[in-house]
Amino acid sequence: MTARGRRIEVRGTVQGVGFRPFVYQLARRIGVNGRVRNDSRGVVIDAFGAAGSLDDFIEALEAEAPPAARVRSIDWSAIPFETASGFTIVESASSTEHRVSIPADLATCGDCLREILDPTNRRYRYAFTNCTNCGPRYSIVNGAPYDRARTSMARFVMCPDCQREYDDPLDRRFHAQPNACPVCGPRLVAVTPQRHEIGTSDPIEFAARALRAGFIVALKGLGGFQLACDAMSPGAVQRLRERKRREAKPLAVMVRDLADADRLALLTNEERALLTSVERPIVLARKREVDDDNPLIGLFLPYTPLHHILLRDAGTPLVMTSGNVSDEPMVTRSSEAFERLRNIADVFLVHDREIVTRVDDSVARVIGGSPALLRRARGYVPRAIESGREFAEPVLACGAHLKNTFCIATGSNAYLGPHIGDLETLETLRAYESAIERMKEFVGASPSIVAHDMHPDYFSTRYALAQANARTIAVQHHHAHIVSAMAEHRLDGPVVGVAYDGTGYGTDGTAWGGEILIARYADFERFATFHPIPLAGGDQAVRQPWRVALALLDESFDGEAPLHALPLFRTIERAAIDAVRRMIERNFNSPLARGVGRYFDAFGALFLGMREMRYEGEVAFRWNGIADELESGRYPILIHDGVAPWEIDPRPTLRAAVDDFMRGVAPAVISARFHNTIAEATIEVARAALQSRGEMPVVLSGGCFQNARLAESVLRGFHKVYMNREVPPGDGGIALGQAFVANAVVRSRSSVVSEELVCV
Ligand code: ZN
Ligand code: ZN
Ligand code: FE
Repeated sequence: MTARGRRIEVRGTVQGVGFRPFVYQLARRIGVNGRVRNDSRGVVIDAFGAAGSLDDFIEALEAEAPPAARVRSIDWSAIPFETASGFTIVESASSTEHRVSIPADLATCGDCLREILDPTNRRYRYAFTNCTNCGPRYSIVNGAPYDRARTSMARFVMCPDCQREYDDPLDRRFHAQPNACPVCGPRLVAVTPQRHEIGTSDPIEFAARALRAGFIVALKGLGGFQLACDAMSPGAVQRLRERKRREAKPLAVMVRDLADADRLALLTNEERALLTSVERPIVLARKREVDDDNPLIGLFLPYTPLHHILLRDAGTPLVMTSGNVSDEPMVTRSSEAFERLRNIADVFLVHDREIVTRVDDSVARVIGGSPALLRRARGYVPRAIESGREFAEPVLACGAHLKNTFCIATGSNAYLGPHIGDLETLETLRAYESAIERMKEFVGASPSIVAHDMHPDYFSTRYALAQANARTIAVQHHHAHIVSAMAEHRLDGPVVGVAYDGTGYGTDGTAWGGEILIARYADFERFATFHPIPLAGGDQAVRQPWRVALALLDESFDGEAPLHALPLFRTIERAAIDAVRRMIERNFNSPLARGVGRYFDAFGALFLGMREMRYEGEVAFRWNGIADELESGRYPILIHDGVAPWEIDPRPTLRAAVDDFMRGVAPAVISARFHNTIAEATIEVARAALQSRGEMPVVLSGGCFQNARLAESVLRGFHKVYMNREVPPGDGGIALGQAFVANAVVRSRSSVVSEELVCV
């Protein structure tokens, strides 16, 4: 038997997830000698042993990888045999190697869970238990490279037992930076809103009792404060809604395990996998019993020891929502919590481990059989998105306005920052700026190119333009949407890009939002758009969708709209109707908008009788939720192909829907037919684009594709079709697209410059 040597390169997410200790233990088990180290792209192993052992070793590297690892490829080449004795973990030499290795926060692993539930274990009921496979990461780091000294665990000195685990390569806690135990680690206390510490030896048990009694508990979670109450108590939930000033927006529910999730929702296998993934996002799933007109429920499983113990003690599913007042960012500091949440919570469960970076819970949904992220934060950030394209220079992309995220791209990686929220309050703007600064440091890049939306009034645009010593590049909103999905799926372009959303600033200064583009990374052509609707009062019309419905009715029925037959208009004063009509007639503060989202608003407002929108997207969300799943009928719609861009005109759709309504057809059926109509028109126009421009992939993006019914109908229309998965299709994913567009624009400009030089 001859001994051989192999250099094995493992690529993917393999740093900060316990991969090197795993390799070490595997090598010892199989009897392979050598060493393992991190490099800038993953993990490199020099392995020496018998050929058969090496084969087993490589096979097990993939098959048995730690849960949080994502092995994308394993390549090996032969190297000369060395008589290495044993196997060693080589410390990373340079700090740049470390830079990429700040991992995302990971849900409590099964081994740690067993420990905290075992009365004989020294970590029994210990809320800060973690190991190399799980625990806080991104949320507690304040600098790079990632080690304990640069986390908020630095002030806790490990006790001898913890230190021994930390130093032992065979221990699950070998180099687990946040390692802690009840002797040496952070402590929980229960506190009243008047800041009196409650004398109890078991603060979690106390909080659980308060929850069972219907009280509201503010708890310091992983990436910020959360507000919890008994999800099964309508009174408690109502109190939370009132105090938080969140009257209508759905609240996420945390359940202790999959069995409890099953009691509340009808779950597919894909949804179960997503619920139990290490990222533990909130998963939108179908409610088992629909008690209102929202068929979906946001469910998630415990992802910290604190959550696990609390859910078990409480013995009931808990509403678990971010600890903030209406639209402010989630609170992260205890002192701040006592200030801002004192009128909401009855009990505070706080501790002395600082949350360095705010990370909201992520939200995901299964669309077309695969997960799609709707909000990308905890568990995912700062994982890199690798597109296989090189960034010529580091790029900062500032994102859009609502549901903002930013992106920093360098080398071949793009790092999307956490969900920041709507850039509208001072607090949010501060959070945005500090998260950008921190990410620059983690990634080790100072961007020389800054990409931003074309909208001149967005805070993100003004922020971009204020960056000194950087080239700024404006990127059209829908182009960025499409490129975000191209980058994720590593498409070279061109593609037929369908970008449907509420609004985005067009190159002509008007509001776009129903765009079918022929897109490349550097540029695009507008192949088709939607017929525009006037928004009487601008943003006012977005909040009061009856105004959009009225404008569309008047246009569709040539001023002869049967308002008397439509219940929505019985709720609206004559004077208000007349005022809106006058504004539109005189073209006063009534900008034209082409957003597909506005059609959802108009139809939803009309047939559900909703005059106001209580949170962004409410009407469209309900209009989608009500659609009859089995209905396959559709309405007429006009496609004008004699103009450039083509125009999709749903006015005949509205006329037919109103006819249906007056004949007593149920709104659920009208909604289904409306969805079918928009999807069919989209497929038809995209096919026409393919026919005239040749075969290319079809790409869907924009907030409207959070709507699973619409997305799935369009996905079924094509063979080669892609939508966002890793980043949200809504504006939370737009920064990724901006970064790639800016990179392509810089490259194409520099190639133009060099051609000119050649001519000279
Ligand atoms: Zn663990
Ligand atoms: Zn300890
Ligand atoms: Fe958008």
